[in-house]
Amino acid sequence: MEQREDNLKDVISHAKEYGFVFPSSEIYDGLAAIYDYGQLGSELKNNLKTYWWKSMVQMHENIVGIDSAIFMHPTTWKASGHVDAFNDPLIDNKDSKKRYRADVLIEEHIEKIRQKTEKEVEKGKKKFGESFDEAQFRATNPNVLRNEEKIRSIEDRMRETLENNDLEGVRQLIVDLEIVCPVSGSKNWTEVRQFNLMFSTELGSVAGDASKIYLRPETAQGIFVNYLNVQKSGRMKIPFGIAQIGKAFRNEIVARQFIFRMREFEQMEMQFFVRPGEEMKWYEYWKETRRKWHGALGLGASKYRFHDHIKLAHYANAACDIEFDFPMGFKELEGIHSRTDFDLKQHEQYSGKKLQYFDPELNESYVPYVVETSVGLDRMFLSVLSASYQNEKLEDGTERVVLKLPAPLAPYKVAVLPLTKKDGLPEKAREIIDGLKFDFLCQYDEKDSIGKRYRRQDAIGTPFSVTVDHQTLEDNTVTVRDRDTMEQERISLDDLHTLLARRTSMTTLLKQLK
Ligand code: ATP
Repeated sequence: MEQREDNLKDVISHAKEYGFVFPSSEIYDGLAAIYDYGQLGSELKNNLKTYWWKSMVQMHENIVGIDSAIFMHPTTWKASGHVDAFNDPLIDNKDSKKRYRADVLIEEHIEKIRQKTEKEVEKGKKKFGESFDEAQFRATNPNVLRNEEKIRSIEDRMRETLENNDLEGVRQLIVDLEIVCPVSGSKNWTEVRQFNLMFSTELGSVAGDASKIYLRPETAQGIFVNYLNVQKSGRMKIPFGIAQIGKAFRNEIVARQFIFRMREFEQMEMQFFVRPGEEMKWYEYWKETRRKWHGALGLGASKYRFHDHIKLAHYANAACDIEFDFPMGFKELEGIHSRTDFDLKQHEQYSGKKLQYFDPELNESYVPYVVETSVGLDRMFLSVLSASYQNEKLEDGTERVVLKLPAPLAPYKVAVLPLTKKDGLPEKAREIIDGLKFDFLCQYDEKDSIGKRYRRQDAIGTPFSVTVDHQTLEDNTVTVRDRDTMEQERISLDDLHTLLARRTSMTTLLKQLK
């Protein structure tokens, strides 16, 4: 664990040093859980957005995208349930004065038990070697079974207490599990209280409750209130989806894990409208489709796992998370929720407007059901950055820090480096960039030795470096160095564009989704 936490520290300082992520308003010592993306961070972020947007909107005939406002009519949040129920249960430790989310403390306790099971399985693997039957071991080993039973009973109590808003029960569960504060090590807990996560402000110059409005805590409601506008103006036929990328704001209780939990963040959400009764089929479809989308990045299948929700949100009849193995362990990256007709029905009720669909095949009108996929852009960023960050020991005994970013996401696709600053080599290098820059973000660098320049490109994840030397002027060839293998190959300049397109374009990534 310690090593993993060090990994997070390394990633944070690397992100700052190379212009990926800065603490917000740093000259004033920053603002808790708010971050700015720097020159390379915004490129990586934009590439992530493009990958998501194209996979949704461009690759699906029946999905369109919108861009709705951050401020919405305040009744929206009454109807959606956020004013009354968008709460987190918080608890304080009286000794350390640290504040925690009560449900997260319990979840982390469960995760520890799960880790014990995994250790048992590892032991079994070692003991039995080739003949080890993992499924049978999990089904019969008494320690594993005991752990599973423990987890089940904790989850049952957690679900029951949270669903009934039994805050004393939640506290009792923490006490019974003997959960200690990670900072003070004590069990001296306060009561559990509910805390609403929405930020509010005022519209116009008249203060008071009547003009109180909220910064949206999710982008989804902007899609729901526009459901009919889009359906009618786009002549959309069910099933169809509406996608959106945009900022969301939550006054998070605990904000400690870099860009994993921010108070201002960005979501990429898609609401898929389906016939009532067909939602489970689409729920499974989107689980699989989203798994593939993550998988195509090539960060390793073992980095992802599905986790079914213990407590379903007030609007859902099925829900799961795609979790990622972050430096802090497995945590939620994306949520996939079957939201039923809850949101549209609520908006019908509160607005008095019909939000129905006439299904010509069934010859009837209904309020569609909704399956949602919702992924945090900043968490995607952290997943890609942390998995790509590597400190490699090389054969010659030296080390290099390299960001093995999936090439289509890398900020710069290619660096063009003249071997020396004279003899017309810089001019040739710039000429090459002039030919490439319509399609690829290129970097020019002539300072320091070639070795140092390669290392700089490794550190920012540039997949290819092209070196221009005297031979280039004679026969129009360059050396191309591959970031990951560090191998160099001499190719004709005529083939450079094709090579870069084949290895670094978004199209390559999108084609894997077929
Ligand atoms: P958590 O349980 O971690 O608080 P959540 O279940 O409340 O997350 P959702 O409401 O399902 O999250 O939001 C969808 C996605 O938005 C999440 O999967 C996550 O990637 C992202 N997200 C939510 N809250 C934050 C945050 N504070 N900072 C960054 N990303 C967030």
